[in-house]
Amino acid sequence: MLQLFIPLNFLGFVYREIKRSLTDLENMLGLLNQHSSVIDKPSAAELQIRGGQISFSQVSFAYQANRPILQNCSFELAPGRKLAIVGTSGAGKSTIARLLFRFYDVQQGAICIDGQDIRDISQHSLRSAIAVVPQDTVLFNISIRENIHYGRPDATEQEVDMAIEAAQLRPFIQSLPDGDQTLVGERGLKVSGGEKQRIAIARVLLKNAPILVFDEATSALDSGVETAVLQALKQLARNHSTLVIAHRLSTITDADQILVLDQGRVVEQGTHQQLLQQQGHYARLWRMQQAEQSHS
Ligand code: ADP
Ligand code: MG
Repeated sequence: MLQLFIPLNFLGFVYREIKRSLTDLENMLGLLNQHSSVIDKPSAAELQIRGGQISFSQVSFAYQANRPILQNCSFELAPGRKLAIVGTSGAGKSTIARLLFRFYDVQQGAICIDGQDIRDISQHSLRSAIAVVPQDTVLFNISIRENIHYGRPDATEQEVDMAIEAAQLRPFIQSLPDGDQTLVGERGLKVSGGEKQRIAIARVLLKNAPILVFDEATSALDSGVETAVLQALKQLARNHSTLVIAHRLSTITDADQILVLDQGRVVEQGTHQQLLQQQGHYARLWRMQQAEQSHS
């Protein structure tokens, strides 16, 4: 009896480990579509989260030597606050999220979380502290429910159900032949961009990490669904440090700080009201989007 028990228990352990590393892999694929090139220092410590303060100090970064992407980029996210990053496509917004996750090391400057340079801490502890809804989510060839459960493999069934509700996935799941047991992916169900986003959001709700990153996380949702999902994310974001990369400015007017990025440089920084008064990039972008909205 004992002999049988030990191997099964061990298999359970192995299974959980595989699940965990797949979560990391998925995060990686979702943000980057390629493998990380950074390695832990032999002396790498575990990240100690206090409030979840994030600072970028004069960060410069290029994917290729002759083409700078971020230039001298500095900002701070106070513990438990919400920082939004806006700017045109290609400005370097997603790159900021990738650098925070340490898929690449910066070439100049430093990124710190609660005063700890992220190059000095283990990648595993760094990535466990950050939950990301990436711009493109990767789903596995397993059931919808398992895809969500990946967010935190040790979550209870009830917690998974709550995440499904909060991400507004219930009506979609109920319309499927096998409900939340329906297989996803190449051999199974085709999932739309908006459904993928909601699955990614359910994962993040489940993971409940101290630092949250949303990279255009609701861009593919209908405005009715988006409002409900944003409400759930707002609840989650309470007391969490949150970095929101946004296309639609109307979703980030409540941010404590808004960063306007243009060609890899921070060109403006302030609250929604302050930036409108500055009559610069942000104000122009705002007027343009308001006009688009009233025409559609
Ligand atoms: P944003 O999210 O603001 O649209 P990104 O941060 O994704 O912009 O990209 C900024 C710039 O970096 C773009 O010009 C993009 O083409 C380039 N870029 C992004 N990823 C890579 C990569 N892996 N290798 C080379 N260039 C990249
Ligand atoms: Mg992007």
